[in-house]
Amino acid sequence: MQAELIDHIRFTAISPDMIKHMSVAKIIVPDTYNDDGYPIDGGLIDQRLGVIDPGLKCKTCGGRAKVCPGHFGHIELVRPAIHPEFAKTIYLLLQSTCKDCHRILLNEKQVDDLKPTIESFVRADDNEKELSLQTSIESEGKNMSLIKKLKTVKKCPSCGAVQGKLKLERPTFFYMNGNRLKADEIHDWLASISNEDLAYLGIDGTSTRPEWFIMSYLLVPPVNVRPSITLESGERSEDDLTHKLVDIIRTNQRLEQDIDAGAPQIIIDDLWELLQYQVTTYFNNETPGVPVARHRSTRPLKTLAQRLKGKEGRLRYNLSGKRVNFSARTVITPDNYIGMDELGVPLKIAENLTVPLYVTKWNFDYAKSILSNSSYPMVMNHISKEGVRKRVADTNREELLAALKPGDILDRQLMDGDIVLFNRQPTLHRLSILAHIAHILPGNTFRLHLSATIPYNADFDGDEMNMHVPQTLEAQAEARLLMGVSTSIVSPRNGQPVMFAIEDIVVGMYMLTKDGASFTKDEAARLLSSVDIYELPEPLKNGTYSGKDIFSMILPEDLNFEYTDKKDDKNNVVIKKGKLIKGYVNSKIVKKGKLILYLYSEYGPEKAKDFIDSITIMAGRAAYIAGMSISMRDYYISALEKDREKIISNTLNEAKELLDKYRNKTLEALPGYTKKQTYELEVFATLNIARSVASQVLLSHLTMDNNAMLMIAVDARGNILNFVQIAMMLGQQSVRGGRPSRGYDGRVLPYFSRKDKNPMNKGFVKSNFVEGLEFVDYYMHAMGARDSAMGKPLVTAVSGYMMRRLVNAMQDFYIDSDLSVKDAGGALIETLYGGDGIDPVKENMK
Ligand SMILES: [Mg+2]
Ligand SMILES: [Zn+2]
Ligand SMILES: [Zn+2]
Repeated sequence: MQAELIDHIRFTAISPDMIKHMSVAKIIVPDTYNDDGYPIDGGLIDQRLGVIDPGLKCKTCGGRAKVCPGHFGHIELVRPAIHPEFAKTIYLLLQSTCKDCHRILLNEKQVDDLKPTIESFVRADDNEKELSLQTSIESEGKNMSLIKKLKTVKKCPSCGAVQGKLKLERPTFFYMNGNRLKADEIHDWLASISNEDLAYLGIDGTSTRPEWFIMSYLLVPPVNVRPSITLESGERSEDDLTHKLVDIIRTNQRLEQDIDAGAPQIIIDDLWELLQYQVTTYFNNETPGVPVARHRSTRPLKTLAQRLKGKEGRLRYNLSGKRVNFSARTVITPDNYIGMDELGVPLKIAENLTVPLYVTKWNFDYAKSILSNSSYPMVMNHISKEGVRKRVADTNREELLAALKPGDILDRQLMDGDIVLFNRQPTLHRLSILAHIAHILPGNTFRLHLSATIPYNADFDGDEMNMHVPQTLEAQAEARLLMGVSTSIVSPRNGQPVMFAIEDIVVGMYMLTKDGASFTKDEAARLLSSVDIYELPEPLKNGTYSGKDIFSMILPEDLNFEYTDKKDDKNNVVIKKGKLIKGYVNSKIVKKGKLILYLYSEYGPEKAKDFIDSITIMAGRAAYIAGMSISMRDYYISALEKDREKIISNTLNEAKELLDKYRNKTLEALPGYTKKQTYELEVFATLNIARSVASQVLLSHLTMDNNAMLMIAVDARGNILNFVQIAMMLGQQSVRGGRPSRGYDGRVLPYFSRKDKNPMNKGFVKSNFVEGLEFVDYYMHAMGARDSAMGKPLVTAVSGYMMRRLVNAMQDFYIDSDLSVKDAGGALIETLYGGDGIDPVKENMK
């Protein structure tokens, strides 16, 4: 084969001559195989179009299935059909040219104005054309607006003909003064537009003639583009494109027969329209305004456009998307008894993934021993120093063992201690992919430490995650050093910890370290031995062990730490010389809090990770010993009833005052708002406050004896607003950021009065979940719930799309050795990464 340098590529519409030139067979039979199971001559899988059957030879090139590239055929349409994707261009052309003389509707002066650019464009040779077309379009900002105005020209400047009213009814129906323009009429019109006139419309007539948009010849793609599948039953199943082409030929045949038989025009026109429909859906089965073509099973056919478009299309799925080897995906489940930096990998997965072992004289004995294994962990492949690759089997193991030498590579199964990358979609930030240490375990799920779910935003309601096994030593080292879980505890975004204790572990920490918490010797021994500590702290005078002392056993002996809460001194914590002497371990110090950050910066990432690991096990155990549950009793607080009524009546009074002010026109409008809008805003704000007032009152009534309150206070689950909604009132519901107002004319429900200003009828809900909801309350609450429920997926879709575009735009940016950011072409994007050269991870540490 001769190598040629590609100078330029040009895209044009395909001409009838090109189709005839390309085609190796005219397809006339709307069928595929004959009764003997051989392709029918002139059928849709004519052997001249190539072969997919390994036993057959291509009748065009003589090649067999894998050698023959496939060849195009064609269908001759007895009546032309409009290419649906060009309908808009055709519409523009018809609008811009005279209905009688088909000249462009520009007057002499306009022609003179535009001539210089157009002439340079028309005269340019092929190489320059691309450029001059670009310039002509760019400089013709005015040109295009001029062209758009051409449809309003009433009289042809060339022949004086009065222009008709042109209409395009999607997708392919054109009307002139209400009369349908047939495809052949449009063809003739477009064919008589000169190349010079086309140039004014930005079309290069020497490469693409507009009449080609009206097709009399249709290309039939090679069979290997639309292979048939043989089912197990021996039955053949054809590709959707083949089905569609069968429909086209069948309609074409009927049309031909009817024309030959001299059928009435109406019948012919109907069939012609059907042919146009078949062609339209062949190109794009999601064309707006056209019924979807379906398979017998009612499944929509996947035709040409559907093959290319969208997430599962050729571009995004097959070209930008890549399948990867050395990866696994399954459901995740929690396991707090492995380290936060570990990943529980099912044995089944470990058996199927391999890591290369580079045989050296130093690991030779180890390599030999693992190669001799005939069950897990064993070697799957042997690649000799010379590059010969052999699958290790029972039959050749001895032979390979004898020949093993340094320089060979062994693909061994994944084992404990291997480094793996773990990922959850959507992959929104750097911490969505972290390196974990594999820990091979029985079962079918990946097991993940509870605290490691936070950066992934994972939970265990069926979430699945992906694992990748880095294959080269360089990749493994990078993963360990740059992507490790421990080193990622502090976020690169703001220098705050992103991994800490959550949920019931936080309750457990309170149970373990609250004032007065004490444990028997047995309990203390179990708590400590669960984290591999086999000595006890000094017992208290009564022989029990203080929870604070037990907790202190996992702290570094020289740790001095103090946390002062500006709002609530109950949260203050003092640790001196590795002993917790004041306060309990709350989420304030281990979450936003400084303790994890302090351990991370002063004792290193590993220590911070070990602390989270230990506290998780120990606090889990402490919560287990203490026991913890909530019930209706926690939420039914009779003392609240009076407060609740007072809050509601106060709120309603305030709303009433606002209404009075609005009615007697003493309410002043906020800048940029009408009085009515101001009233609505202020009423909404006033009614909204009721809930916050209620939460203050609620807080004053509650102590840590209330388990529901305890969960909230230690920041394990829920917030005070949840409690208010359960025990006091749901409060003002919001729809689109305001009070519900739509539904019926001037009212939300039909039996409210239009003049009704009662806050209850505009979403103020007095009742709570314990006492139950009245109908109107329930309805208002459902409106608010629906509003927020609909918002969520919408927001994710929008941000997901934004992410895709950002990734596409920035994927080849990199930070150079001088800390500047460059793109793949070496162009400078940013002189200093981040603009300030500050690493937030290190910045927050003192
Ligand atoms: Mg989930
Ligand atoms: Zn061939
Ligand atoms: Zn004219």
